[in-house]
Amino acid sequence: MKEVANQKVKIGHYNGKKITHLFACNVFNAKAAREWLSDEAYKSLMHSIKSGNKLERRMADGIAAGLKAWAEEKGATHYTHWFQPLTGTTAEKHDSFFTIKGDGTAIEEFDGNALIQQEPDASSFPNGGIRATFEARGYTAWDPSSPAFIVETGYGKTLCIPTIFIAYSGESLDHKAPLLKSLAELNTAAVDVCHYFDKNVSKVTATLGWEQEYFIVDENLADARPDLMMCGRTLVGHSPAKGQQLEDHYFGAIPERLFEYMQDFEAEAYKVGIPLRTRHNEVAPGQFECAPIFEECNIAVDHNSLLMDTMHRVAKRHKLKVLLHEKPFAGVNGSGKHNNWSLSTDTGVNLLAPGKTPRTNLMFLTFFVNTIKAVHDYADLLRAAIASASNDHRLGANEAPPAIMSVYLGSYLTKVLDEIEERVTEKFSEQDEAILKLDIHKQIPELLLDNTDRNRTSPFAFTGNKFEFRAVGSSANCAGPMVVLNTIVTATLKKFKQEVDGLIRKGEKKEIAILHVLQSYIRDSKVIRFEGDNYSDEWAEEAAQRGLSNFKTTPEALGAFVTESSKELFIQNGIYSERELEARYEIMLEEYVKKVQIEARILGFLATSHILPASIAYQNELITNVTGLKSLGLAEDSYRSQLNILKVTSNHIQEINDNVEAMIAARKVANKEENMHQRADEYCHQVKPYFDKIRYHADKLELIVDDKLWPLPKYRELLYIR
Ligand SMILES: [Mg+2]
Repeated sequence: MKEVANQKVKIGHYNGKKITHLFACNVFNAKAAREWLSDEAYKSLMHSIKSGNKLERRMADGIAAGLKAWAEEKGATHYTHWFQPLTGTTAEKHDSFFTIKGDGTAIEEFDGNALIQQEPDASSFPNGGIRATFEARGYTAWDPSSPAFIVETGYGKTLCIPTIFIAYSGESLDHKAPLLKSLAELNTAAVDVCHYFDKNVSKVTATLGWEQEYFIVDENLADARPDLMMCGRTLVGHSPAKGQQLEDHYFGAIPERLFEYMQDFEAEAYKVGIPLRTRHNEVAPGQFECAPIFEECNIAVDHNSLLMDTMHRVAKRHKLKVLLHEKPFAGVNGSGKHNNWSLSTDTGVNLLAPGKTPRTNLMFLTFFVNTIKAVHDYADLLRAAIASASNDHRLGANEAPPAIMSVYLGSYLTKVLDEIEERVTEKFSEQDEAILKLDIHKQIPELLLDNTDRNRTSPFAFTGNKFEFRAVGSSANCAGPMVVLNTIVTATLKKFKQEVDGLIRKGEKKEIAILHVLQSYIRDSKVIRFEGDNYSDEWAEEAAQRGLSNFKTTPEALGAFVTESSKELFIQNGIYSERELEARYEIMLEEYVKKVQIEARILGFLATSHILPASIAYQNELITNVTGLKSLGLAEDSYRSQLNILKVTSNHIQEINDNVEAMIAARKVANKEENMHQRADEYCHQVKPYFDKIRYHADKLELIVDDKLWPLPKYRELLYIR
């Protein structure tokens, strides 16, 4: 194993180049489009990106020709529609530009049809019953708002065209289609509300800045662990004597081998236009984080998916394995993916940044309070949006936000909202206007610099000019939580507009009408606000008293997607049809079942073919030793310790064997369940509890059995070998 640590791979990374030199060199952005497209094609493409309208079909051939010429000059031989099906990864099917014409001439070709739409054989993607296998067709359709890019893999270069993925019958089968719909709806609703304050606003864009946490382990060590290979997490393994208790890893110096890996994947990321900005060690040994500058939400989601792919791919070059699972190791922190969300206007205003005048303060408070109200009204849906088998291990695990949704505002904004709640009266007086004259913009930055006013334990925190959704899992596609957040804020803004307009019609002055509706929203949503320690048991009790939900497991949490109010929300805002919603619910339950099922199988296999044989071999050594000593005629007292170890070992072996058998029996019962919700429930409450029981005994044996005989790399090796 020492050899493993010394392996060195020579990689070029930045090749002595500045980042600006590399950045977006493989992206067909506005600059490349200007250079490679005709005036007419360029204008048509830019118009379609800006307006969100469909591209004129007659322009597609011209754009395809320019795109192909650009890609070929860069060395690309193939192209692919790049999409994000509901499998949790990205999908691509490469076609070459190369073709042979009827007369036998070989040429390179790429026309408008190939750019705009493809028909991949899609029968094997999750569809939740939408598509019977006899109508297995699916379509991918170009999303011009996310630029095409070239991925360099091995010796090849491939032109990737971001697309949505829909069924033959029109239902969405991916993450991007609903995301684009939610962004369009949010734009309309937010622009309408902006017009109370500024008639010049014609577009509002949701922005997203994600932070990606991950673990890195040596590839050869990971290969020797079937659980890491197949499930992305360890199912057994005793915590090392030294974990994260010394807190000596966080922000520490990055080990050289890993630093080389980071530089290498960063270089790949820069080339495809991912604006990475930070890198650092995280709290747990072997854990790290990177984050880009925030971007328009749709592009940020694509970039996160692309980065996750890139990290896996580049890790191979360095004989490393990157783990994006939320909880790869028990006993040390898990990984999350904070989603920093905000709204910005085409007039250059961040709607969640406090203003400098009473009028802009009121605009800020409007979007701020509406977001809090949305989280309050749809907390269960937000919880459902981050539910997954893997995130269940992290949420509420004393180091991650709990499964209870709440919003953290900080003391100053809490005070501002309290004042509006108490002081704004029926007859809004001039003195109330003083509230709006507060220098909110000056106070907040000062308070944020003060660490005591930060709350790392909150699942949804305001951080000065954005909300940070911290409960998102590290392996998640950001689109899931973003679709829900965009949609619930859209619905709340629409309702807000109706109510304010109603008061204005009754004769109230605009500003006063806005303040009155905000006041009622502040009152209605008060229970969702929490400034204390979200990790504490007291909070769980208090939250229950406040009537807040606490869905601890995925099967429980997912139910929120198919309640009457959720159906109404998604259907009325045009995000999902009822059929799409039911299908997604089914897909998510099925994914849960499959993940737990695979883990149960791997754990059973690890126990019976790795841990038990090693333990029995050790048992035999002890037996040989004891019988040997006994045959020498020694008193039993002289081999008392060995007998004791033998008894303990035998007991753990027995327990593991019994529990594995019981787990298999429970799995068989669960598999018979036809209803997917019931099956998920069975796996959650009848199968999964055996994991901890088996692990307990396996981890005890790891401490007893001779290290030479133990078949699995241990935590101290996985977490510390560099
Ligand atoms: Mg972090």
